[in-house]
Amino acid sequence: MPELKDKSVFAIIVAAGSGNRCPGPRAKQFLNLKGKPIYTRSVQAFQETACVSGIIIVGPGNNAAALLEMQALTETFPKVIKVVAGGKSRTESVANGLKALRSSGNITENDPVLIHDGVRPLVTPELIRQVAGKVGPDQIAIPTTTPTATVKKISGETITATIDRETTGLAQTPQGVTYALLEEAVSHWLKHPTSAITDEGSLIENLPPERRQQIIMNNVSGDPDNLKITFPKDLQKAETILDERENLKPVSPDNLPYKPRVATGFGYDVHAFAPQRKLFLGGLEIPHPLGLAGHSDADVLIHALVDAILGAIGAGDIGRHFPDHDPTYKDLSSLFFLQRTMRLVQKRGFHLEAADITVVAEQPKLKPHIPEMLTRLHRCIAQPCQLNIKATTSEGLGFTGRREGIAAYAVATVTAT
Ligand code: MG
Repeated sequence: MPELKDKSVFAIIVAAGSGNRCPGPRAKQFLNLKGKPIYTRSVQAFQETACVSGIIIVGPGNNAAALLEMQALTETFPKVIKVVAGGKSRTESVANGLKALRSSGNITENDPVLIHDGVRPLVTPELIRQVAGKVGPDQIAIPTTTPTATVKKISGETITATIDRETTGLAQTPQGVTYALLEEAVSHWLKHPTSAITDEGSLIENLPPERRQQIIMNNVSGDPDNLKITFPKDLQKAETILDERENLKPVSPDNLPYKPRVATGFGYDVHAFAPQRKLFLGGLEIPHPLGLAGHSDADVLIHALVDAILGAIGAGDIGRHFPDHDPTYKDLSSLFFLQRTMRLVQKRGFHLEAADITVVAEQPKLKPHIPEMLTRLHRCIAQPCQLNIKATTSEGLGFTGRREGIAAYAVATVTAT
């Protein structure tokens, strides 16, 4: 197989779907993922992969306005050759992309063509390179992941067997095939269209058996984070993965942030009282007729503390790390946020020295509960530090005085380790 450095890799990004499983006014490839339409993130990944020379984007076939918008939004990616309209099926869309690639005139028969679902925005240059590297004459490459659950064979309403997980794979994209083989498989399909083609692997399987036998399908180890956005919850998962990637991104030496020897952060939070909720403060359930409204357990004390700690290490705020629309955090104990924040403190090379928290509440009386709150916070932080909690009222003034909710203020100081 020729070395990857000798090949020109081309990509066809298919973003032509109608997306009727993801509710909303627009097809899912146009939905926003952290401020950018999903498909543009897929395009960006290919743009950033050095071995990729050209990209064709296939948009919806029945929506001229959407196509124009796609052209405008991808103008800044120099590798994009053309945005073309898709067809009625996935294979028709790929055929349209292939036609555009053919007329670009720069491609030769053994060049790998990588076909990618526009709704897999978390694809990495690493995976793109691995797939491209395993494409050769009569050799295609498909990334797969091993299912995490036990896989059953089903016939109607009964289960007939358990399939050995190790012998199965969940196919992802990009799938890579040489330009010549893609031309061959697409033109065969155009003459013998079948409806069950869902990826390029099955497009190759659609070739006559004697031809199919000559082709090797190479398995590439897929990336579990390379999600296909199908349902709204996938979008939230993708956001969390992007956040994690941002946190782990190595900082280049030219823009190393200043790392202070000592730093202090400030946090403030408010939650309103609500019926039928338990009241949690400092990781402790406190008997009271009303609880606090919120997505998690609404522990206002811990939220202020977490914000103060994140402030001290220069890591943004609680909403960035634990978005309140993420179902993972629904009704979750806020001690989890504190634990995760402490992990981040360590990862960034800091030690939490001290934190001081003031809770403003007209009711209930919190003083008797402070020792147990401190015990729980110390247990969660799990390293020596000085913690102080104060409880006060606002003398009947303002929203806390009117007993509408509880406010908390915190400062935290960290030192570099
Ligand atoms: Mg809060």
